[in-house]
Amino acid sequence: MSGSTARTRAITAVCNHRPIGAPLNFKATPTKELFGANTFSMAVMKERLPKEIFKSLKTTIETGSAIDASVASVVASAMKDWAIEKGATHYAHVFYPLTGATAEKHDSFLVPDGNGGATVEFSGSALVQGEPDASSFPSGGLRATFEARGYTAWDVTSPAYILENPNGTTLCIPTAFVSWTGPALDKKTPVLRSMKAVNVQAQRILKLFGHKDPAMVVSTAGPEQEYFLIDRNFFFARPDLLNAGRTLFGAKPPKGQEFEDQYFGAIPERVLAFMMEVERELYKLGIPIKTRHNEVAPSQYEIAPIFENANIATDHQQMIMLTLRRVAQKYGMECLLHEKPFAGVNGSGKHVNWSLGNATQGNLLDPGESPHENMQFLVFCAAVIRAVDKNAALLRAVVAHAGNDHRLGANEAPPAIISIFLGDMLTDVFEQIKQGSVTGSKTRGMLTVGVDTLPPLPQDAGDRNRTSPFAFTGNRFEFRAVGSNQSIAGPLVALNTIAAESLDYCATELEKATGGDASKLPAAVQALLKTIIEQHGRVIFNGDGYSEAWHHEAEKRGLPNLKTTVDALTVLTKPDVIAMFEKYGVLSKGELESREVIYLEQYVKTVAAEARLTIEIADTMIVPAAIRYQGELASAAANVKAAGLSPDTTLLHSVSTMIGKLQDAIVTLKSTLDYHPSGNILDEAKHYCHKLVPDMLAVREATDTLEGVVADDLWPLPTYQEMLFIK
Ligand code: ADP
Ligand code: MG
Repeated sequence: MSGSTARTRAITAVCNHRPIGAPLNFKATPTKELFGANTFSMAVMKERLPKEIFKSLKTTIETGSAIDASVASVVASAMKDWAIEKGATHYAHVFYPLTGATAEKHDSFLVPDGNGGATVEFSGSALVQGEPDASSFPSGGLRATFEARGYTAWDVTSPAYILENPNGTTLCIPTAFVSWTGPALDKKTPVLRSMKAVNVQAQRILKLFGHKDPAMVVSTAGPEQEYFLIDRNFFFARPDLLNAGRTLFGAKPPKGQEFEDQYFGAIPERVLAFMMEVERELYKLGIPIKTRHNEVAPSQYEIAPIFENANIATDHQQMIMLTLRRVAQKYGMECLLHEKPFAGVNGSGKHVNWSLGNATQGNLLDPGESPHENMQFLVFCAAVIRAVDKNAALLRAVVAHAGNDHRLGANEAPPAIISIFLGDMLTDVFEQIKQGSVTGSKTRGMLTVGVDTLPPLPQDAGDRNRTSPFAFTGNRFEFRAVGSNQSIAGPLVALNTIAAESLDYCATELEKATGGDASKLPAAVQALLKTIIEQHGRVIFNGDGYSEAWHHEAEKRGLPNLKTTVDALTVLTKPDVIAMFEKYGVLSKGELESREVIYLEQYVKTVAAEARLTIEIADTMIVPAAIRYQGELASAAANVKAAGLSPDTTLLHSVSTMIGKLQDAIVTLKSTLDYHPSGNILDEAKHYCHKLVPDMLAVREATDTLEGVVADDLWPLPTYQEMLFIK
């Protein structure tokens, strides 16, 4: 290529990429020993803590009881010794502000001894509580800015770990982040509160089913993370990717994903090397990575761990995202976690597999072998159906952010309508319950008729339905509407809380109907399931969620269809939503109001930044390239004319028209951006959503048309074809 644009330099650089060099000693430690090597795990604690202290800590972790101050100082001392042996010089309270990011404040272990030297110290209070300057984190009015104090509190239940860096290591302590007056400023605190709430209600159901002393019920989560990998040279040549995480321009490649030759295909060597290093890094942190594969779109991949306790899974998920980004750079690639980095190509989601379970009864959403077990399973399952139907709008709200708007409701991701896929078999069971009795199941033979006999359910009853935002997949639900870039905390808080509310309802009904007489349970369950399925069966949909027909049908059924983030976020402060979160002690009215404001602000900031980038790239890269091409065409025409021939100016005319359209679109976008906000964040967000986004799209459309005609050596931005197919 002759010209030297950022694009051509990027292509040259990609082509000259050096072979991948594995880090030294990469394979030295066997995986088994690597796993959890950098975590202050139960095993490490057992080995290093006095017996009594370990017992007390274990009880706290397993039952959620309060931790004793005297225990904390012993743990701190052991933790410090362990960390220093692993090369740590600093410790950091890691917390999860409402931006969805991971924040760390590092402090040195060294304390001056007053004699010109220093001692190494880490007290119980330093472990238990930290005090980062909270003023730069969004609080949505929860904390006046002059009152910058917020503090971090050690989450005993999530293991501390060592973060490695070539120049040393840091002891990281997962914490909750709350303002001085109490309200949660973070994503972790409500997760912990919601887990407590769901445990209380699930216990009531288990007691009804005759379990004497059930262990604490926890919600479990297994998030499947989708992501794109592209060469870093392309990334740097695209100001939109660099600054917005997604392409704001780019015509569809001639070859897209229609060949379906990428899904589960062989993984390119550089990518596989990257994945292996990611996995080893995550193993060290005790994160149980299980699967890796190519995804549907070109250059799209997935990583998934084995499920864990929802709180730990949430912390681990944040580490997975950080590790993917960090390691990709070592391999000369950039990991794109945005929900829609490339228009017209599949977006990325994070399928959050969710269930409830405990140590004594196992997975509570797993159909059992005996009728009794099935009855219990059906109660939990029906509770979830009721919860999702009652709170479909809330579930939409907790996945609402600017990036996910490009995905949800677009024609290749779950629709914005929240429905449940149950599979034919389970749907049939509920249908029969609705009719009054269960006589058989679809895949098995006839079953005994009678209220106390529910069908044995095959283990993996559900078929796969990729179009459903919330699917039962045999022994768990899979919430597929979650965005690839978002923290899974919000979705899990919502799931746990709505489950708590629904289990509360079920327990209350069953307690009333049985009055302590266990022999009345089967009839009571039958009646409860019938009521739930009659009232909430509308949320079940096993068909094609992408189809036009479903949109009409959903409307008829009265299911909400909140198309944009702005429509969805206001659900967070609906009176019934506030009442529910307050009732179960998960989020207060103030905390919900602050979250709505913060998320709307984030939306506005994201879209505004994208609009400014659109203008900058159009003005400084696209228009100049198009005008150069127009000039070339004009002078070519002049030359032809000078030679006494009559030039064909069709192309010149059409390019000129396109440039005119582009310039008009830029002018319109600039004027829409030049908007004086009224001070009401919701109004502002609506303006951005309904005016600015379409105006940006108009600039994009004009640009993408030009990309199809302007001479290739003049085009400044790496194309979709180059970014997605040069690996
Ligand atoms: P698929 O792509 O077919 O949906 P994957 O194997 O990629 O399946 O991911 C399934 C995820 O569901 C894994 O993270 C797995 O650990 C998780 N999972 C399995 N059982 C449960 C459960 N009881 N609770 C939460 N997550 C679960
Ligand atoms: Mg998967």
